[in-house]
Amino acid sequence: MAFELENDQLRVFFLPYFLAGHMIPMVDIARLFAAHGGADVTIVTTAANAATFQNSIDRDTEAGHRIRTHLLPFPSSQLGLPDGVENKNVAVSAHMCSQISQGIALLKEPMGQLLRQARPDCIVSDMFHPWTADVALELGIPRLVFDGSSYFQFCAASAATVSGENDVVSLQGLPHKVELLKSKIPDWSGFGSSFMEALADSRKKSYGAIVNSFSELESDYEDHFRNKLGSKAWSLGPVSFWVNKDFSDKIERGNNKKKNNVNNQDLINWLDSKEENSVLYVSFGSLTRLPTTQLVEIAHGLEASGHQFIWVINEKETQEEEIDRSGALFLESFEERMKRNQKGLIIRKWAPQLLILDHPAIGATVTHCGWNSILEAVTAGLPMVTWPLFAEQFYNEKLLTEVVRIGVGVGVERWSFDWWRVSEETAAAVGREKVEKAVRFVMSDEEEEALEMRKRAKKLSVAAKMAVESGGSSWSNLVALVDELKSLKIQP
Ligand code: UDP
Repeated sequence: MAFELENDQLRVFFLPYFLAGHMIPMVDIARLFAAHGGADVTIVTTAANAATFQNSIDRDTEAGHRIRTHLLPFPSSQLGLPDGVENKNVAVSAHMCSQISQGIALLKEPMGQLLRQARPDCIVSDMFHPWTADVALELGIPRLVFDGSSYFQFCAASAATVSGENDVVSLQGLPHKVELLKSKIPDWSGFGSSFMEALADSRKKSYGAIVNSFSELESDYEDHFRNKLGSKAWSLGPVSFWVNKDFSDKIERGNNKKKNNVNNQDLINWLDSKEENSVLYVSFGSLTRLPTTQLVEIAHGLEASGHQFIWVINEKETQEEEIDRSGALFLESFEERMKRNQKGLIIRKWAPQLLILDHPAIGATVTHCGWNSILEAVTAGLPMVTWPLFAEQFYNEKLLTEVVRIGVGVGVERWSFDWWRVSEETAAAVGREKVEKAVRFVMSDEEEEALEMRKRAKKLSVAAKMAVESGGSSWSNLVALVDELKSLKIQP
């Protein structure tokens, strides 16, 4: 059935990138536009990607919101990829990952054609589809870019640097004094200069940016981004909290039907049996695969800390690694022992993260500093142990440990370009003593600084939730953005 659009209703097309950390929040934003912005929304994707979120779209449709997915075929056979492998998160080798990138690049033509035919009023595009900037210009419509991270990281990455003693680099002109070890600063040259230029160029051609953040979290950097870097921006976060109020949304979010080793009801029962703030949640996001040697160190550190935990191990098959048999055997017996004595649960594959973080039993997290996980922990009012590895995660760590001061670093020293397989050198640098120390600190109910950190985290949680209530900062930004887009709408 074709919808009769109201005269001033906005038609917005969303183009997510096929990578969980980018796609999950963009789908939330699309749902937000339909549910709270009153827009008519189309998410352009492929079948295997849609399968990870279609249920929530169907629920939105049943609730009367105008939202749908538009599926394009993924060129799997052309690339020799198995059926259903359409997202970088399911790749089992670096080679497969680059084939998926090629597949996404091949979708440029059919996606562009679709946009030209549909002529929406606005395109919300992932940063990794830079070509959408030219299509938007051609159609005379605004393009909003979404890159899935913090204002802080963008400002830090754009700052001039001055090198000092002992390899410390100071970032100039930011609202706070920010210094980092040179080894922690991202080096994107591996992407090639033409790709990086295309991203920067498409950003310049965009109407503005949608940012999954909220003013009370990083207002100095929101201002800096707008005023010093000269980009229009709308903070609409935390989007995970704003749209995923339904229990099914929380439990299914991002899950591509992977069957976990721990059944959801058992997980909830386990959490229900624990005291408030007594369980640590340990996760390194949707991509990271740590070497077995590092997993063994984490296991020892967790056990020595004496605290209860849920630990998500992103277990991907791999065609590339020698199996460390003694490490794997140790982890197997560790897992059984922890389960038996009710100390810890290890979830393999995919955890219902929103549901877990929301549970009162969770007292803190260990995070790789992916921006979505940070915002989700902030919303839940949790202090964090920061364990950055790649992408912009070391900048996010700075924000947590030195600006908002709700995080304590575990002590990682080196940025890694390669997220596919974090090298032993980068990741295994964190020994069990460091893990134990940071966990004891973040979970402490005695140490004054830990208690202050927890108080600050609780305060930020209240601010996060208020931001998306009627009249809150993100709520007002959405209203203003929709009004502005309507004023730009091409009249039929
Ligand atoms: N996530 C999840 N379950 C998992 C792993 C990840 O729900 O087992 C979700 C998590 O809640 C977050 C996203 O996947 O929304 C990961 O994004 P983030 O920016 O934290 O890290 P990335 O995976 O991009 O490194």
